[in-house]
Amino acid sequence: MNNQSITKEILKWYDNNKRILPWRKHLTKKQKQYFTLVSEIMLQQTQVKTVIPYFIKFVKKIPNLKSLARISDRKLMKCWEGLGYYSRARNLKKTAKKIIKEFNGNLPDNIDQLKSLPGIGDYTSAAIMAIAFNKQFIPLDGNVERILKRVFYLKTEKEISKDNLNKKKSFFGKSNRSSDYAQAIMEIGALICKPINPLCYDCPVSKNCKAYKKKDFDIKSKNKFNKVKYFEADIYKSKNKYLLVKNNKFNFLKNLLIFPMREINKKKFKTSLNKRINIKMSNMDMKISINKKNKKTYLSNSFLIDKVDIKNHILPSFTKKIFKSIVSH
Ligand code: SF4
Repeated sequence: MNNQSITKEILKWYDNNKRILPWRKHLTKKQKQYFTLVSEIMLQQTQVKTVIPYFIKFVKKIPNLKSLARISDRKLMKCWEGLGYYSRARNLKKTAKKIIKEFNGNLPDNIDQLKSLPGIGDYTSAAIMAIAFNKQFIPLDGNVERILKRVFYLKTEKEISKDNLNKKKSFFGKSNRSSDYAQAIMEIGALICKPINPLCYDCPVSKNCKAYKKKDFDIKSKNKFNKVKYFEADIYKSKNKYLLVKNNKFNFLKNLLIFPMREINKKKFKTSLNKRINIKMSNMDMKISINKKNKKTYLSNSFLIDKVDIKNHILPSFTKKIFKSIVSH
C-alpha cells in the first residue's frame, strides 16, 4: 500500500472503531482546545481508562482556562487527588495563567509557543497542534513508536532512537483530517498493536508490516528499569493524630504532605528491623522502612492530622499508601 492508501485505511478504521471519550465530544473550538490541553496533560504517564473519571470531574469543576488560572491550589489539588504526578496539575495552572497573560487567553497554535508553556514538551505540543488545531503533526507516543518498530522491524539501538522513529513517521503520510488522523494512529497502537498479542487481523496496516510477515512481535526498548532508592519514614502518632510535613526536601511530591522521610543507604535499609514497604514512582522504585517514633522532633512545616480526617486532606496517594500500611499493621 502507498502512503495515501495507508492514510485512507487508518481513517476508515478509526471512523468505525474509535472510542467514545469525553474529550472527543462535539465541542466548540474553545472547549476543544481546553479539553485537549487538560486531557493531554492528564494522559502524560496515565492510561486513558484511569484518566476518564478524573477528566470529567476536572472540567465540571474547572470548565475553562479562566477558572483554571483563578482556582486555589487547594481546590486544584483536590480535583487532581489520586491521579498522581502532581506537578502536572501545578504546571497546568501556570500554563493557564501564562496563556491569559501572554496569549490573550487563547491557547497558541504555534508549536514553539506551546513548548514555552510549563509542562508541555515535544510530545504534548505535537498532540495539541494535531488534535486541537488540526495541523499536520503526528505525536510520537509509546503507541505510535510500537507501530513503527513493528512495521519497519526496528531492533537495534540506532534503529529505535527517537531521531530514527521521527523520520519513520513519514510512513503514515498526511491527511487533511489531522486531528482525527493523529488520534487514529495512537488509537491503533493502544487497541490493535498492543504490546502483547497484537490484533493483526484487524490492523489497517498489516499489509505493510514486517513484524507481521515475520511473526515476530518482540519490541526492543531503551532500558527503562527504575533506579531503586532507600528511605526511612518516621511515623509519629499522638492521640490518633499523625505528624506530616510539607515536602520541601525532595524533588518528587513537591509541597505536598508526606511523612517525615530521609534517604538512607541500602545497608541501613537491609539491616533495619522496621516494617518495610515498596512504592513505585515514575522514575524510581522506593523501598521504605517504617520507623515508629515516640518523640515529636519535627516542628517547622509540620501538621498533626487526625486519622478520621485523613480523607479530607490533600494527600498524595504516596502518603496514603504509607498510612494504610501503618493502620493495617
Ligand atoms: S500488523 Fe500487527 S504488528 Fe503490525 S502494526 Fe498491525 S497490529 Fe502491529
